[in-house]
Amino acid sequence: MQIADNHVVTLHYTVKTQDGDIIDESQSTEPLAFIQGSNFMIAGLEDALYGKQKSEKFEITVEPEQAYGHRQDALVQAVPASMFEGMDIEVGMSFRATTDQGEQSVIIIDKTDEHVTVDGNHPLSSLTLTFDVSIEDVREASAEELEHGHVHGAGGHDH
Ligand SMILES: [Zn+2]
Repeated sequence: MQIADNHVVTLHYTVKTQDGDIIDESQSTEPLAFIQGSNFMIAGLEDALYGKQKSEKFEITVEPEQAYGHRQDALVQAVPASMFEGMDIEVGMSFRATTDQGEQSVIIIDKTDEHVTVDGNHPLSSLTLTFDVSIEDVREASAEELEHGHVHGAGGHDH
């Protein structure tokens, strides 16, 4: 079965920077399972998966435009420290915040008595990434999985 929209793809991956640093890999845990065409995967990798089959292995290098985008200075904001009153915050902490762009993950990059500076850029923004991919399984998504928008069973939701 060739990968197409609404197929459940299960794969192992290793993702590296251009310097060869391994950012993440799935081999030491569970393979990743997702519904093709649901925008779960970064665009560059999802595009490369179409037409591939179980047991195929490939490597692909993805530019930031097709991965996590470019850093945007506008996503770095200083907010009044009073907004964090009573919270024990430190530089390096990340949390979910509601911003003009919707809900996103932000990381605290600086704090003074008056201001806390948060950065909403994805940690992998502006990076060209190389993925080593091994396709473990391809199957049709069930009607229930399509309705929920996520995979059930191994590598997916258990409910
Ligand atoms: Zn579900």
